[in-house]
Amino acid sequence: MTTTTDPGPSGTPGPTTVLVVLGGPDRLRRADRELLVLAGGLGTTHVVVPDAPHDTLLDALAGHAVHTVHAPETGPGDRLTTPAVALTEAAAREAGATVLLLAAGPEATDVAARLGVRLGAGVVTDAVALDADLVATKSVLAGGWTTRCRATSPVLVATVRPNSVELPSDVPSDVPADATAAVPTGADRPRVRTHAVEDTAPAARVVGRTALPATGRPALAEARVVVAGGRGTGGDFGPLEELADALGGAIGASRAAVDAGWAGPEAQVGQTGHTVSPELYVSCGISGAVQQRTGMQTAGTIVAVNKDEQAPIFEIADLGIVGDLRTVLPQAVAHLRALRGE
Ligand SMILES: Cc1cc2nc3c(=O)[nH]c(=O)nc-3n(C[C@H](O)[C@H](O)[C@H](O)COP(=O)(O)OP(=O)(O)OC[C@H]3O[C@@H](n4cnc5c(N)ncnc54)[C@H](O)[C@@H]3O)c2cc1C
Repeated sequence: MTTTTDPGPSGTPGPTTVLVVLGGPDRLRRADRELLVLAGGLGTTHVVVPDAPHDTLLDALAGHAVHTVHAPETGPGDRLTTPAVALTEAAAREAGATVLLLAAGPEATDVAARLGVRLGAGVVTDAVALDADLVATKSVLAGGWTTRCRATSPVLVATVRPNSVELPSDVPSDVPADATAAVPTGADRPRVRTHAVEDTAPAARVVGRTALPATGRPALAEARVVVAGGRGTGGDFGPLEELADALGGAIGASRAAVDAGWAGPEAQVGQTGHTVSPELYVSCGISGAVQQRTGMQTAGTIVAVNKDEQAPIFEIADLGIVGDLRTVLPQAVAHLRALRGE
């Protein structure tokens, strides 16, 4: 859909302009690509990057028909989200964007809320789908209800859960940061517009950053496969890690496992942890309490391994395996390896 009668921020009817807030200036992550595919179906795409865009990013954007890349004159430095808000607001006003898309997450929720106030926009967080008529689908009340909603304001700000948009086969799901040789030359690069933005809320500063230890696995929130463990692991995540590595997935955990110190808080899935929406969620030794389900039940396929056939997780599982995870998981790994001839 390239033309609609949606009015722009100025109130003038015109074609839909979509502003996509990208996760970084260096490369396109899978979640970015999903937003670009979504935006491409809605109208003309502009993007915002938090710092000066790298050549690798501009080359990767060449295949996505991006009109303009909006970048700040100076990077966010030691600020929290306020520079991103100021930049995105400036870009949205200049481009006349009526739809702003971000990959869902705690930071995106913060940015979206602030943009909602500044632009007088309707805000929808954690959408799992967005139709061409801008109706968003959400899973709410601990996953018990699926709702559809539409902003009544002229501008919509939406955060979309990663893995909600299917990528066409010709769109790579992710491009490694160092894959410069694999991307096209700069012939069709979008134009770059830099903005001098003033941080109007500089009260908080970042005083230190500590990188999480590298696991070689994808980030939990964006992973296409998550293998999650609960109290039933007894503290041994080894079989889960083997399965996650065989499937190229991330490790998740229930709160019981995190509280026991068997997994870090960054791995927690659920009401007070991450909300994930992978293509495949393998739940191992997790009972399936409502607070766990709310963080994972929009997954495409749910496989549950639990030795209790009455466990609530089986109510939402697409495939349930009643058994001891210490027996089931190694068999699954062995089978996967055999299929690959390893
Ligand atoms: C306000 C609030 C917020 C919360 N937020 C979260 C949250 O974000 N995320 C979250 O997960 N929980 C959250 N909880 C806690 C939640 O209610 C449950 O207590 C928790 O999810 C239980 O974790 P679990 O399933 O690992 O443990 P349990 O409920 O003890 O279940 C363990 C399961 O493992 C199975 N099992 C045991 N041994 C094996 C074996 N060898 N092989 C296979 N299966 C085995 C058992 O049959 C059982 O079903 C929250 C609770 C509250 C009150």
